[in-house]
Amino acid sequence: MERPLGQILMANRISILMYHQVGKFAPMREHRANYCDHRRFAGQMAFLKGFGYRVLDLDQVLACVRGERSIPPRAVALTFDDGYANFVSHALPVLRHHGFPATVYAVSGRVGGQAQWFAQDSGRPVPELMSAAQLRVIQASGITVGSHTVSHLKLAEATPERQHRELIDSKACLEDLLGEEVKHLCYPYGSFAPDTVRAAAASGYLSATTCLRGPALPGDHPLVLPRKAISFGDSLIGYFWKLVVKNKPKPQLLEWRRASP
Ligand SMILES: [Zn+2]
Repeated sequence: MERPLGQILMANRISILMYHQVGKFAPMREHRANYCDHRRFAGQMAFLKGFGYRVLDLDQVLACVRGERSIPPRAVALTFDDGYANFVSHALPVLRHHGFPATVYAVSGRVGGQAQWFAQDSGRPVPELMSAAQLRVIQASGITVGSHTVSHLKLAEATPERQHRELIDSKACLEDLLGEEVKHLCYPYGSFAPDTVRAAAASGYLSATTCLRGPALPGDHPLVLPRKAISFGDSLIGYFWKLVVKNKPKPQLLEWRRASP
């Protein structure tokens, strides 16, 4: 049976949105989920403000998922993978303008360097990543900095020892750099396995985001949080569609929800 629009809008779930780069880009055919045009980004944030969305930080998301607080209507969270330098110039001013919290996942071994993993695709520009000073600037602006491992590897393909090292070392490095606890993790490439989740818990992370598509629900495993990817091609209609309508979880997410590692 069709649910009324009002009920769909008020549903008890959080759309955790996944962004990568925000900036000025020539139109591209491939890797579109890695780019968001800066004007579209500004439009998307104005959309959230205009329609009364509640933008939660990841501590609030965690409390909702654990059932410690109720999920407000129209709840979203904003995450930015990899720690691109263009976050500072193109995303941060818009977020500050609206007073929206967000989380940036930094690759601790590449701070102040480049996203070398782009070099695997010939002809694709290799973007700059934020420096330590820039990470401190965004932290001072209320942005949460989380870990995206030391070297941006596919964790599920690494040995358990390497996984532990990547998770513990990146957490310690970023905590030294920022002077505060790093509680939130994002699995590069969305690559993780049951032993990754165990290693994340043992390393002291409280939340971890994936590339499993879907909204986050109360009772979700906090170290297997689903997200919705925002892409270069997402007009406001596409954005609305992803926020409100596109909530069918990927089968793999349902597996994790059932298995609860
Ligand atoms: Zn990444």
